[in-house]
Amino acid sequence: MATAYQDLVTQLRTAFPAPVSDRVHDAYFVFSFLRALDQVDALKSAAPMLGTPVELDYAAARLKTMADDPTTLESVTAELVQYLSGMFIWGHPRAQINVVPSPTIPSIIGGLLPSIYNPNLVSEESSRQVSLAEVEAIAMTAALVGYDPARADGVFTFGGTGTLLYGAKIGLEKAMPDVRRKGLRAPAVIVCSDRAHYACLTVANWLGLGEENVIAIPTTDDNQMRVELLAPRLREVMADGRRIACIVATMGTTDAFGLDDLEAIVRVRDEIVQECGLDYVPHVHADAVIGWAWSVFNDYDFEANPLGFRHRTVRALAGTARRIRHLGLADSLGIDYHKTGFTPYISSAVLLKDGHDFARLTRRDEETPYIFQSGTRHPGKYTLETTRAGSGPLAAIANLRLFGKRGLQALLGHLVTMAEALRDHLDGHASTTVMNGDNFGPVTLFRVYPDGVDTFSVPQQERTDPAYRETLLQHNAYNRRIFELIQADALQGRGVVLSLTDCYRKTDYGEPINALKSYILSPFSDDQHVNAVLESIWKARRDLSAES
Ligand SMILES: *Cc1c(COP(=O)(O)O)cnc(C)c1O
Repeated sequence: MATAYQDLVTQLRTAFPAPVSDRVHDAYFVFSFLRALDQVDALKSAAPMLGTPVELDYAAARLKTMADDPTTLESVTAELVQYLSGMFIWGHPRAQINVVPSPTIPSIIGGLLPSIYNPNLVSEESSRQVSLAEVEAIAMTAALVGYDPARADGVFTFGGTGTLLYGAKIGLEKAMPDVRRKGLRAPAVIVCSDRAHYACLTVANWLGLGEENVIAIPTTDDNQMRVELLAPRLREVMADGRRIACIVATMGTTDAFGLDDLEAIVRVRDEIVQECGLDYVPHVHADAVIGWAWSVFNDYDFEANPLGFRHRTVRALAGTARRIRHLGLADSLGIDYHKTGFTPYISSAVLLKDGHDFARLTRRDEETPYIFQSGTRHPGKYTLETTRAGSGPLAAIANLRLFGKRGLQALLGHLVTMAEALRDHLDGHASTTVMNGDNFGPVTLFRVYPDGVDTFSVPQQERTDPAYRETLLQHNAYNRRIFELIQADALQGRGVVLSLTDCYRKTDYGEPINALKSYILSPFSDDQHVNAVLESIWKARRDLSAES
């Protein structure tokens, strides 16, 4: 007679994949997954959303408790599927919300396989060939961005913020050797543009530098660092007795796709080292989590245009390539395959131009007695994390292999073509103005104005003339209302889902300027979906004038 506990174990065993080949049980595993996918499919409609909009009831969520008894795999799966109801479908061409891609099928499989076998990238002991996959993904990307793959190295980490944390941490070790053991002995700064991601603040906070030691250099109207202000700021910082932990070049800003002049930033850094006789070389990290993918155009012949892009697209791609082709000058790079590389979360890597820089982070052997007993590659000796999943590298490799350079050129070129078509319409209309017209990515920031506003002069006046403060604030409110109306329709499955940024940049007199945002990342986008954006805008404008 089996005891009660033995019965339960027997029952629960069916919920694990069989450790040895068992066709019947394997079929059950696969079929369970197919049934889940079927249930998800039943949530689809023409709308860019799974299921229906759901009010989020956190009070009820807080009352949940663990049940006394086990439940079946089937009912758990059905419950899990329900959590997706109300989710936007990022891959839907009428979802243009943010830099969130829809993953490709191979990259989903790349994410899934490790979740069955749990390779742990802490060491090759626990990840075997998946450790090779990480090295391969890093090598492929290093070659793509213009690093010497023989010298470069890198690791996957917990997102774009993680990549920046590595850059700044290594930079801090260079600026203040052995800070890892002795702690901070002097203030140190992170220097970036005022359009850099707030991850710079996060990193300054978590490294103990302090958010006040993030130096934000003003930007031009096309959202790139004003490099002529960099050298004077660096001199000031050093005159204050502060050290430079890291200079961050943002290669693709989050809202506007602004691109810093990395080549000029590196030149300024080198001149400062000479001029001030520094005993360290301030580290330059390129936050290329968005822009890296455009490296596929480094060797594109824009004159011959073999892929046959429209003129406007060629101009936009070339405008990006002239900045991105210098990525190889950065001491470290942040790459998000899960943004412009179409993989599932999380797939992010930090790349170092000189892999030896990891030595600055390496733990002493006696600190890690549990692991690293055999083999040669043990990233866990210097990574922040201990356990790291294999899904990031396998998903990245899946897409690098699937697309090839030509495929990614075609895909990005198509998205930029769609964004340019949208801009063409918005530029041609009296009541809309594109705010990031000199940035050349898949994201369009624009403002909508009420009837009777002269959009040839007003946007410029709002940005520069303090006398227009009230007008600016009224138009901020107007754009927020337009956004809310479009959003309300979208939640009902009508029109297009866009987003709003509260501050795409500040006016010269310090007020935030908001903007509507269309981020076109769906490979299924076409001219009709560009028109759908315009229709959503006109409808919201009509509704708004009917309200007042
Ligand atoms: C998204 C983003 C980050 C943060 O990356 P996550 O992968 O979301 O952690 C950092 N920098 C820039 C420029 C970004 O757009």
